[in-house]
Amino acid sequence: MDFAWTKEQAELRREAAAFAADAVRRFGRHNDSWINGYSKECARELGARGWIGLTWPVEYGGGGRPPIDRLIVAEELIAAGAPIAAAWFADRQMGPTLIAFGTDEQRAAFLPGILAGESTWCIGMSEPNAGSDLAGLAAAARRDGDEFVISGQKIWTSFGAVADYCYLICRTSHEEKPHLGISEIVVPLDLPGIEIRPIRDMTTNEHFCEVFFDDVRVPTANLVGVEGNAFSQTMRQLEHERGGIDRLLSNRALYEQAVARADRSDPLVRQEIAALETGYRLGELLVTREVLGQAPKGFSAATKCFCTEHEVRVANFVSRVLGPEATLWDQVTAGLCYAPGYTIMGGTSNIMRNILGERVLGLPR
Ligand SMILES: Cc1cc2nc3c(=O)[nH]c(=O)nc-3n(C[C@H](O)[C@H](O)[C@H](O)COP(=O)(O)OP(=O)(O)OC[C@H]3O[C@@H](n4cnc5c(N)ncnc54)[C@H](O)[C@@H]3O)c2cc1C
Repeated sequence: MDFAWTKEQAELRREAAAFAADAVRRFGRHNDSWINGYSKECARELGARGWIGLTWPVEYGGGGRPPIDRLIVAEELIAAGAPIAAAWFADRQMGPTLIAFGTDEQRAAFLPGILAGESTWCIGMSEPNAGSDLAGLAAAARRDGDEFVISGQKIWTSFGAVADYCYLICRTSHEEKPHLGISEIVVPLDLPGIEIRPIRDMTTNEHFCEVFFDDVRVPTANLVGVEGNAFSQTMRQLEHERGGIDRLLSNRALYEQAVARADRSDPLVRQEIAALETGYRLGELLVTREVLGQAPKGFSAATKCFCTEHEVRVANFVSRVLGPEATLWDQVTAGLCYAPGYTIMGGTSNIMRNILGERVLGLPR
């Protein structure tokens, strides 16, 4: 068996690395570039190269390429810190979800904008009283003729302030068991009744927001999939969200900076680098298995848990290597302050361990 990259894959990696270096030169290097590096221009360039929707079926405008090609491109872009955030959520999640569950009209309306890097999407899932527990969602949509009328609040909505669409997860029925009455609706963010307030985090970044909906009217045609079925549809989306390379390489650029500066003659530092290098390789194997569809169902929870905890270990290493210098207020400091978020966003490590124990291993609750 030959585990080496093919000639085409090696060429694609070179091309992606060259693009990433050039994008960093022109648009700046960003920590956590898939969630913090917002550049519409960069998104358009990715679209023009066919690097958005790379694996989507050709009939929907995608590249029809194998998942490993997307892994190679994403790995190079994220490791370098190229700003891909304006397109990332839609490429990773909304596009595949619309392809799987949407109507032909929805695909025709939304996929071309995503593929061109023109439309930015945010995920409206978490609420002040419902984060880990999706069944606790209170934001609600009620039917009024051929419209939904939406009221309620979302929080921690990354890109709420700059996105064109919110992929909203909200309650459409109070009649059934709590997890059955939830639906997914595409909400254009320029509709009347929507108020968006950015939240400043401790790195001074304002990428996530509170989003308020006050009797917002959206056509029922924007319902994605089956009404009340969001719980199982969202589980599928979360598989896209949790098992990817973005969960491993968020602070890779900082790591490389720290390794270059570390005293590699110190045996303890050498041991630490060896452990982190091993972590990167294990993480890559886990992600590759997810990408190739070879992981057991639900295992992306374990992949996310391992990879994001690795990112936190990387951040700790960076602060130890740089010492007091890491507290100078610069990109490094911001990267380190941001690190606790890795094991929270996309589902906390506690929740990932619950999923692994209960749903994958079948342990008693
Ligand atoms: C940087 C960042 C970006 C984000 N972007 C988005 C976004 O774009 N869209 C969006 O919708 N959300 C987003 N989030 C929100 C994120 O999904 C939630 O913060 C996360 O799901 C946890 O929910 P919570 O904050 O309400 O914490 P809670 O659910 O209140 O949990 C609090 C603590 O209790 C623990 N806990 C809760 N339930 C259990 C349990 N059953 N067993 C064991 N422990 C438990 C948790 O592990 C955690 O430690 C983002 C968060 C961050 C940090």
